[in-house]
Amino acid sequence: MARRESAVAGPGSRALVVDLIRSAGPISRVELVEATGLTQPTISNIVRRLIDDGVVRETGATVATGGKPRTLLVINSRSAYGVGIRVGADTLTCVVTDTRGGTIGRELVSAPPAEKPEDVVAQLASLYRDVTQGLGLSPQSVAGLAVVGPGPVDVARGRFLALPGLERWADLELGQALTAQLGVPVLVDSDAAAAAVGEFWGRQVSRERTFGCLYMNSGIGSGVVLDGALHRGASSNAGEIGHVSVVRDGARCRCGSRGCLELYAAPAALVDRARAIPNLANRLKIRPDDPDARAFDVLARAAIYGDGQARALVDESALLLADGAMTLANLWDLDTLVLAGPGFAVAGSLYVSEIRRRLAERAFSRKIHVVQVDLSSNPRDSAAIGGAALVLQGSVAPGHGPQVAATHA
Ligand SMILES: [Zn+2]
Repeated sequence: MARRESAVAGPGSRALVVDLIRSAGPISRVELVEATGLTQPTISNIVRRLIDDGVVRETGATVATGGKPRTLLVINSRSAYGVGIRVGADTLTCVVTDTRGGTIGRELVSAPPAEKPEDVVAQLASLYRDVTQGLGLSPQSVAGLAVVGPGPVDVARGRFLALPGLERWADLELGQALTAQLGVPVLVDSDAAAAAVGEFWGRQVSRERTFGCLYMNSGIGSGVVLDGALHRGASSNAGEIGHVSVVRDGARCRCGSRGCLELYAAPAALVDRARAIPNLANRLKIRPDDPDARAFDVLARAAIYGDGQARALVDESALLLADGAMTLANLWDLDTLVLAGPGFAVAGSLYVSEIRRRLAERAFSRKIHVVQVDLSSNPRDSAAIGGAALVLQGSVAPGHGPQVAATHA
């Protein structure tokens, strides 16, 4: 196992060891020494503390390698639970995962735009309580809550700047308000960033991978995990691939720029175009008052089942997203890219094939390595699951970024 970390024992060593047990476990202490370059006493100390804290457990199994049998270590999936809530245009999705990223509870509720900021806080707090109490989780067993939604986000102050239905209350410090109500650490983050961490964590991806996630919901975003940590940028707003301009002097975007990728490739753009083709909209029964997300699912399903006009629209969007994926792969020299988000829930396979083809043919590093492209196993819930992963990563493997400090603000 190659490694990139320096071999000094320090605050990052615990995160390194947790990450190795998470991605390569069951694994023995001897293998941890070999993989990290840390000394045997250092590994023994870190592992002992992780076992005392309940984060890691011995499997009971041993491997004989000629010498003394080696005890194997795995992450204790019941060490702590993470809760993630994704805020959508008119729904809230709440997911609870165990320490290994397995979903143990989920609730989807409709959430019409609230009248007052207090209503938003109350709605989120009540959903959190319903779900955690329904599962019988003690407050001590919950590592925290992450509320995730479209950016821009102000992670330090725990607020969304342009959340659907919340635009008027960009000053609402949601993280702090919810922490006060719930008594657990609460952080606010972008859906794409959360999805990246969730896919990284839940798929047991090794920190040696340069791992990217392309996220599509109402907008298009991305997240990149480098050496096991989300790349956050100056203000945790990195990865806004949907706001890369693809048409010079194109249409005005909500971000203030022009010609952004998401204006041409995201679900709302495709639904607008479908609505402008009367025989298509009528045939698919897409009504003017259908929410974009629902109308897009109908359009995507028609594309999958062979409707020529619907397929042409989705194919065009896939070509544009393949450009976006190329940009991501070339900028970061990715070796893995996962597609996640409700926008890929129905026609994800069409997007995956187009992006795979494009990267195989044109990625800058294609003669050195392939870029593996996969579809999330749960595209619709990936951001909520990712929220749970963010709090768990901050709790069991601290040292991965600013999220823990922000949590306890
Ligand atoms: Zn934009």
